[in-house]
Amino acid sequence: MLRGGLVVNPETRHESVADVLVHDGKVKAVAENLTPGHDTTVLDVTGLIVGPGFIDVHSHVNSVAGQRLQAMDGVTTALELESGLMPIERAYADAAQAGRPLHYGFSASWAAARGAVLADFEPDADLVGLLALLGNRAWQGPSTPAQVRSWLGLLERELDAGALGIGILLGYAPRNDPAEFLAVAQLAATAGVPTFTHVRELVEALEVLAGPKLAKAMAFLGQAAGRQVRTNNHVERLNRRLRFAEKVRYRWRKRKWVVRWVVLLLDVAWQQAAATTGAGKGAKQLGERSPPQANARGKKKVA
Ligand SMILES: [Zn+2]
Repeated sequence: MLRGGLVVNPETRHESVADVLVHDGKVKAVAENLTPGHDTTVLDVTGLIVGPGFIDVHSHVNSVAGQRLQAMDGVTTALELESGLMPIERAYADAAQAGRPLHYGFSASWAAARGAVLADFEPDADLVGLLALLGNRAWQGPSTPAQVRSWLGLLERELDAGALGIGILLGYAPRNDPAEFLAVAQLAATAGVPTFTHVRELVEALEVLAGPKLAKAMAFLGQAAGRQVRTNNHVERLNRRLRFAEKVRYRWRKRKWVVRWVVLLLDVAWQQAAATTGAGKGAKQLGERSPPQANARGKKKVA
């Protein structure tokens, strides 16, 4: 019995602190305050999460040591699907012989099959060897129709031998013909298996960050100057807000100025009106105080 853990099951949307009773490798009961039998082993898992084993569908961990670390994260199945391994029988045989602590599975490797046809690559069911192929320009280029047929044939054989689907490292072969992708997709559809694709966006990134540019960008990001730019970006946003507030304040000040002139003009007009009914001498003096320019400008702005 696993006692007092936070039981999480996405399938049933269950999430609460509960006890889990396991018998013969199967979950028998999940409930609060279960009563253990006299021969039940009770493990206190307070503060830990109790859940189904996680299936890592994007794993490149192919060592026992690495998989033990994955197990500590709750992974019980690690699948090498994006890159795949070739030949598939050897990938499975090696995994079985190594005594892996997790369930495993592999896809047919589009990269390895293409490499075998285009770049004399000798697949050895090892990801390290496959990674070395990625920078090979012969592998990155387009295939002739005969070459396409050739590596499609290899992939088909891999599927027959137990591959879970086709892993397509499309983004790592920037100069391959897009029509090739359709050919692989067609093969997968016919075989009724999924494809796992590292998409093409990386192509653009590789162009932009080619060679010296990448080194420059990395050096820049590591510098204090790089951090300063990011800070400035933040300050810039603040500046924009302040500038906006300043603009609003300025507009209001201008309006206040206009209002003041309008009030003054009205005052002058009222005094003139008062003067015409009173002494003619006083009206002339008040008339000199009126601002005719501001009058015209002020009215325009209020309108
Ligand atoms: Zn990956």
